[in-house]
Amino acid sequence: MIASNEYVVQEAETRRGQWKAVFGNDNPIQIEIGMGKGQFLTELARRNKTVNYVGIEKYSSVLIRAIEKRSQEDLPNLLFVRMDAEHIGEVFGEGEVERIYLNFSDPWPKDRHAKRRLTSKEFLARYEKCLTRDGDIQFKTDNRQLFAFSLEQAAEAGWETKEVTYDLHHSDYLEGNVMTEYEERFSAQGNPICRMVLVKVR
Ligand code: SAM
Repeated sequence: MIASNEYVVQEAETRRGQWKAVFGNDNPIQIEIGMGKGQFLTELARRNKTVNYVGIEKYSSVLIRAIEKRSQEDLPNLLFVRMDAEHIGEVFGEGEVERIYLNFSDPWPKDRHAKRRLTSKEFLARYEKCLTRDGDIQFKTDNRQLFAFSLEQAAEAGWETKEVTYDLHHSDYLEGNVMTEYEERFSAQGNPICRMVLVKVR
């Protein structure tokens, strides 16, 4: 089913450097990596009609839920790609993406799996190539270990961290916050939500 879905861009690497043409306008492009069922990005697409959004998700079983939401409303500024984020540089060209959202990324708690964490230095280097010069990464998680790891990796890789909070829902940065599925679940359990914004120092 996903293979033929009109909202899922197939052979996305053939669109590298041409995403504005894919959307048919010059609006900026923002992406969410590890979108899950797509609640967050669908809401952003509803609110911001002059931004184009691409939701990236590794697994069809989850992506299908985002497609169901997308098919129920007219959101021409929202498309999906099924892929492993490891290949992000093959799908987006240099400076093609204005913002990357990482929400409740898998923590990969074992040390030997650190490179798989979506905020590792290895992933940050991939993101740097796709982002515009003043682009940023916005990261939310309830996992304090992953958050601490991400702060360290960002500093080592030459990224400035901004708007750092260990309790987003009781912070000055709450205004305009869009809740993800995991954020709703974890905050309902009483877990504070951490958030940071990363900007590459050039
Ligand atoms: N962002 C959503 C939220 O906050 O509700 C979902 C969070 S869920 C814990 C993490 C999602 O990231 C899963 O759907 C998983 O399949 C996806 N994911 C993990 N690693 C990925 C990768 N390397 N590339 C693309 N998606 C990935």
